[in-house]
Amino acid sequence: MLPLRIEKAKTLKEKPKDSELVFGTQFTDHMFVMDHTQEKGWHDPRIIPYGPLPMDPATMVFHYGQAIFEGLKAYRDDSGRVVTFRPGDNFARLNRSAERMCIPQIDEEFALQAMMELLRIEKDWVPRQKDTSLYIRPFIIATDPFLGVRPSYTYKFMIILSPVGAYYPEGFNPISIMVTDKYVRACPGGVGNIKAEGNYGASLYASKLAKEQGYTQVLWLDAQENRYVEEVGTMNIFFKIDGKIITPSLSSGSILPGITRDSVIKLAKEMAYPVEERRISMDEVDAAFAKGKLEEVFGSGTAAVVSPVGLLRYKGHDIVVNDQKTGPFVQKLYDTLTGIQFGKLPDTHNWVMPIE
Ligand SMILES: *Cc1c(COP(=O)(O)O)cnc(C)c1O
Repeated sequence: MLPLRIEKAKTLKEKPKDSELVFGTQFTDHMFVMDHTQEKGWHDPRIIPYGPLPMDPATMVFHYGQAIFEGLKAYRDDSGRVVTFRPGDNFARLNRSAERMCIPQIDEEFALQAMMELLRIEKDWVPRQKDTSLYIRPFIIATDPFLGVRPSYTYKFMIILSPVGAYYPEGFNPISIMVTDKYVRACPGGVGNIKAEGNYGASLYASKLAKEQGYTQVLWLDAQENRYVEEVGTMNIFFKIDGKIITPSLSSGSILPGITRDSVIKLAKEMAYPVEERRISMDEVDAAFAKGKLEEVFGSGTAAVVSPVGLLRYKGHDIVVNDQKTGPFVQKLYDTLTGIQFGKLPDTHNWVMPIE
């Protein structure tokens, strides 16, 4: 047993219908909380009823955004077990984010076990219908009530859970994306390669403009030359050009190292596709399109798994991919990844971790 205090909720909420789930609007009955002070380090881990946090208006996270998060999912597999997908990688990444944001390291194994305990308590919240899951949001915030700019001395680490349906209203249908050569998401030496909360606030304006024009998401280019593809809102991006799978390499330091990205690369290699992690410019994508060699484009991320891209709007013209239909490669990847997650296919990489 973990040294974990558990206080059960006195009344439980009514659970939403699986068919009515959207993304991120409802939360379960309990949450995990742990505090950090300089004297005690991380202490008082507890699972308590879900509810608001009373906070001083001067709390540092409100002013300077010293905060990080993760996102993963629990699924109900075909045999009824509740499973998670590569959860250890999320806590490893949370610690890399913590380091960059001057937040104290957490014990990854302990955090994983605490999350598992929370999932065991909330397992009835894991929905059953196809394409639904229980989204898991671990996060850490700076909690000193102080208006000076320095790392906080105190923090809260929390995990909350939300039953979700498909991330995009389009479901598994190709989305249209606007390539922005005006705004940038991240730059080398910045914080684009970690899940720092401010990254998402900074991305809203370009997304808003894209949505006003009918696009689901923005594709970001590199901050220095505005030429090389980086990633989409909350997804990494892949191109299938002339039989090869190409994705931007992580070496720029401004791209989020997605766990789904890593899974896609491993699966594509196993399917004997050549995979290239390298710089890829919009000119190259455009040229491939002009020659009829741009076969598929898709994004990868926990929320949407893989999501086909049917259209890229770039410099006033449309790059239409595969007649805006879901391509065979992205379909196969989706079937393989969800097949492993739902226990239909063998889990040869040990990616799936059941909660008990
Ligand atoms: C979380 C995230 C991803 C996807 O990462 P996964 O580990 O695959 O969920 C990609 N890009 C950004 C900017 C993200 O925040």
